[in-house]
Amino acid sequence: MMIDVLKKSLFAKNDQAAEENRHLLDHHGVVAVNIMGGAGCGKTTLLECLIPQLQQTLSVGVLEGDLATTKDADRVAALHVPVVQLLTEGGCHLTASLVHQGLRRLPLAELDLVLIENVGNPICPANFDLGEHFRMAVLSVAEGDDKPAKYPLLFKVADVVVITKTDLAGASDFDPARAAGAIRALDGHKGIFLTSRQDRSSMRLLLDWLESRAAPFSVSHCGIRHTSVARLE
Ligand code: MG
Ligand code: ZN
Repeated sequence: MMIDVLKKSLFAKNDQAAEENRHLLDHHGVVAVNIMGGAGCGKTTLLECLIPQLQQTLSVGVLEGDLATTKDADRVAALHVPVVQLLTEGGCHLTASLVHQGLRRLPLAELDLVLIENVGNPICPANFDLGEHFRMAVLSVAEGDDKPAKYPLLFKVADVVVITKTDLAGASDFDPARAAGAIRALDGHKGIFLTSRQDRSSMRLLLDWLESRAAPFSVSHCGIRHTSVARLE
């Protein structure tokens, strides 16, 4: 009972901070994407592939969530985009208030798109609204096609799912159709993109998706969801 009460107040506090983040982002006309997935699924590599292309039409900033170390933030900073490291100091997910601190350190007035790399963890980040406009779940071929069924909340709350490391498919029993089937069983209308760092053209459809959502003065802003996430109780 007590734990339920504490959980409710924790989420209520987070949701309020998330709403403030959304107002701050909307005020500056910035679209934010929360990128979630397990450790090693390829989130940082995806940023390395996408950002140089996105920069041709958009001004991009990055919030880099990690338990410890600046390894990923250093990789992203090498792409010459503003990046703020958010260290959770052992915490296994980003919270809206931590993201707020990060947003305050980015030049929001100059940006179109903020990519938020969450802590490598396929479980609890999906419970925490950060004030983002879109959620991206990342799943690598190396993790197995059973993961959408094992971590349903992540794949349910995501607006898009990016399957990475497809070049490894031949060396594993990952079946993209089986993974897509499991994802669509949770939500039939989700976009699913197959990507590989070895084949940069595989990023094109995902780039189109991101660009259409974040283009300055884009009408797509109107369709943005402004509610908090559904949770598995
Ligand atoms: Mg990373
Ligand atoms: Zn956590």
